[in-house]
Amino acid sequence: MLARIKEFLGMEAKPTEEVASEQEVEKVAEEKPKPRIGYIHLSGCTGDVMSLSENYDILAPLLTEMVDVVYGQTLADVWDMPEMDLALVEGSVCLQDEHSIKELMEAREKAGLVVAFGSCAATGCFTRYSRGGQQAQPNHESFVPIADLVKVDCAIPGCPPSPEIIAKTVVAVINGDMDYLQPMIDLAGYTEAGGSDLQNKVVNQALCIGCGTCAMSCQTRALDMTNGRPELNEDRCVKCGVCYVQCPRSWWPADRINMDLGL
Ligand code: SF4
Ligand code: SF4
Repeated sequence: MLARIKEFLGMEAKPTEEVASEQEVEKVAEEKPKPRIGYIHLSGCTGDVMSLSENYDILAPLLTEMVDVVYGQTLADVWDMPEMDLALVEGSVCLQDEHSIKELMEAREKAGLVVAFGSCAATGCFTRYSRGGQQAQPNHESFVPIADLVKVDCAIPGCPPSPEIIAKTVVAVINGDMDYLQPMIDLAGYTEAGGSDLQNKVVNQALCIGCGTCAMSCQTRALDMTNGRPELNEDRCVKCGVCYVQCPRSWWPADRINMDLGL
């Protein structure tokens, strides 16, 4: 299983002396009771779960052999939410939607770990702009990141998260690679919007190296490079947070990004 994931990611074969430890990881994974996973779908475009399915090759054995999916629309045939080890939450939460709030609160109560999956759940993303008017729920007006209502343990960013970040997160969890997971644990309590985050945190903290990755990754062309620094056009920004996710400096330790420079 681990070998398949590594093959998918194009990771190099390990030296012989490390193979034993790899086998140990697989053995422990086989012997441990299967983690019980739930999937909660709140307000979003469903792009996150589509990105998840892009990894079907490697996730199919994971879902069938290594975890039990115990809750989730179309994933498990249950009505009542059971106790879970981990709840993956996609989408922001609508403050006018009692059902969503109740489901999120229940997930927090019944899951050992709550993971915000995708930028809508992690930072609100473009749903922050929604002001109602949708045919089905015209009174739904206010959407907030799930961390505004419940404690979140880890946030996987992206609009949607790339298949690569999902696959690498799976590998990191299996390997217990805290260096890889730490920025996502830090992001869990960080619910400001994406575009502004980039400007206020990375650039103003003198961390920007002028690489232009943020401007190239912006799908609405809201960022231009000016004098070697990104300049934001607020009118075009949909706060998807992709620029922040792609910025090589946004993955620095959170205490450095949020450090008070005393200026
Ligand atoms: S600047 Fe572009 S990539 Fe960044 S949050 Fe705004 S729309 Fe998204
Ligand atoms: S991606 Fe980050 S480091 Fe690169 S130009 Fe944009 S803000 Fe600066």
